[in-house]
Amino acid sequence: MDKLKFNGQILGVQPRIRLIRSFDESSHNYLGYNIFINGSIDEEEKTFCIAIGKAAQVKFGFRTGQIIIGQCLPVSKPNNEVAGFYKVSGLVKIKDDKIFKEPPPYLDKPLKLEEYRKRGHRRLSAKFYLSSCQYCHWACKMATEIFVDKWDSSNMKYRYETFCYGPKSCENYNSGPTRKVPGRNGKVWEEEDWIDVENTAHRSPDE
Ligand code: SF4
Repeated sequence: MDKLKFNGQILGVQPRIRLIRSFDESSHNYLGYNIFINGSIDEEEKTFCIAIGKAAQVKFGFRTGQIIIGQCLPVSKPNNEVAGFYKVSGLVKIKDDKIFKEPPPYLDKPLKLEEYRKRGHRRLSAKFYLSSCQYCHWACKMATEIFVDKWDSSNMKYRYETFCYGPKSCENYNSGPTRKVPGRNGKVWEEEDWIDVENTAHRSPDE
């Protein structure tokens, strides 16, 4: 398939992290970054999201406000990505404008993936992600794979979960309801609040 040409202004850049769950166990794959763009792709005007690797972000330093062009392909497994497009090539930064806006949301350059890992996250309400945090560089919408039965890889569920890596004092924050993970024989595990408290206990409220 020929690659699709795109161009547009970056609305936000967030880490591209895949969450893998199996009942009360979880792990993360740190894949790169998702770039949300307002512009045109395959000659259609719209807002879209492209997935890039860590090296491309290091090279270009993408952040909100910049205007970029490139080429990409539609993702082959939509359950595994937040972005609609990946395999990006021909990236060029046309304009390096910066958008100055008092946070929150935080619209600067995202951190290194290692920094996100070190900071740890708290769950973020899916509703608030859309209304208040959608382009914040501390927000992350993760494509989530659930092994309902870890001995049967055909028994999988897929969904998206939203998280915040930002300061615990952020006025935009809302946790939303606790998340439930389906397991074998109809059992359900609930990820309670103390897990988020523990994940971020090493940070002060404004850090
Ligand atoms: S709650 Fe988190 S993701 Fe939302 S604006 Fe604040 S720091 Fe950003």
